[in-house]
Amino acid sequence: MPRPRKRSRESEVPAPPPPIDFVLAGRLWIGGRLQPMEVGIGMDGRILAVGKNLSGGQRHDVGESVLIPSAVDCHTHYRDPGGPDAPENFETGTRQSALGGIGAAVDMPNTQPPANTLDRLESKAERAQGRLAIDVLLYAALTVPERVASLSRSAAGFKLYMAPTTEIDPPRVERLPALLAAAAATRLPVAVHAEDPRFFREQTELEGTEGWNARRPPEAEMKAYELLHPIPGGLRLHVAHVTLPGLASRIFRDGLSFEVTPQHLLLSAGRGADARWKVNPPLREPPASSELWEMFQRGLVPILASDHAPHSAELKARPFLEAPSGMPGAQTMLPLFLARVRDAALDLPVLLRAAADRPARLLGLPQGRIAVGHRANLLVVDFRRRTEIRARALHAPCGWTAFEGWPAIFPSEHYIDGKLIVKDGEYVGAHEGRLLRPEFAPGEPGAPV
Ligand SMILES: [Zn+2]
Repeated sequence: MPRPRKRSRESEVPAPPPPIDFVLAGRLWIGGRLQPMEVGIGMDGRILAVGKNLSGGQRHDVGESVLIPSAVDCHTHYRDPGGPDAPENFETGTRQSALGGIGAAVDMPNTQPPANTLDRLESKAERAQGRLAIDVLLYAALTVPERVASLSRSAAGFKLYMAPTTEIDPPRVERLPALLAAAAATRLPVAVHAEDPRFFREQTELEGTEGWNARRPPEAEMKAYELLHPIPGGLRLHVAHVTLPGLASRIFRDGLSFEVTPQHLLLSAGRGADARWKVNPPLREPPASSELWEMFQRGLVPILASDHAPHSAELKARPFLEAPSGMPGAQTMLPLFLARVRDAALDLPVLLRAAADRPARLLGLPQGRIAVGHRANLLVVDFRRRTEIRARALHAPCGWTAFEGWPAIFPSEHYIDGKLIVKDGEYVGAHEGRLLRPEFAPGEPGAPV
């Protein structure tokens, strides 16, 4: 076989750097403070330069406003396909994410029907075409080891439900090792809903969110995590919506990825019988949320995820035990925490690592930081524009939020690949979001965070 001719490095003519097409000027967090800085963006939507006095193409100066990367949300339920009463679809759901500063989001497979076969996953991908305001990663349900290889041809990752959810029954415990081994072989990320239903209780004197916490107790979450061990080598395991400080510390020590939601960081059980606060796993008794919040502030929570899971106000008005679980959150997640940054209760780099950089790494996406080579998915944030969250001003078809009246800072502009998709609270894009899959470099180790 002829050997390829060797060319010396000297004889190669270096390609000229691609021209900057668009310069976005504002302030960036660099070296521990905000500094005036410019981001140079190429025709392909990638960041070509970060610096000063950049020239080329159009220029937009946002003055005192701060440029940050778009968030990456590891956990949403856009409910598409859904039943006739589905409270959301790809258009409405991704538009809320865009307005909330999220540039890419994982959509979970417990739709109607669920994404648990290759056919269903591919028809879901077809449904999404031309309807996405942001980029979306479709996860498949991890239910049967024999289906994992075929699902991995289209899926961006897997979701393992250890407790029953809409249309999906959890696998039997003795099947878990084979399922996890099959998933490890695909190298795709695996998110786990960790609750072991064998520890759920039918009876309790307590009502409302306190009763829900008693019915699905902390023990069920701890025991489910233990069932995942031993964890096969190479498995990109990520534990969804951790609610217990003790479990968070344990997963952190184990060097695995996990997420915490705004609701579990900011709300607690004990709000009477209002089923809008019914989520799975439940809101916990104090001081769980304040302890998680302290961990979050210290950078000990790797990932912030919305678990955006809307239901109509009518369904949520049912008696507590009959109402479905879940709350909307895609549009409010980042704005809630940007307000805390403004109030000096949270460091901006800590928030950006949890909301953008680490989720992008988990999902194998070249975004999540303002860095050369990354996609120019950027937010313009004016920290002087503090508002209060009002359900009627949100774009959620379900029409309610658990964070009514909470302080928030919404991004004033949102760019995907350097193209403006949100301006002053309105979606101005063209639904050009794409379906993404991880782009892991060969040989990259499994543990992402
Ligand atoms: Zn969920």
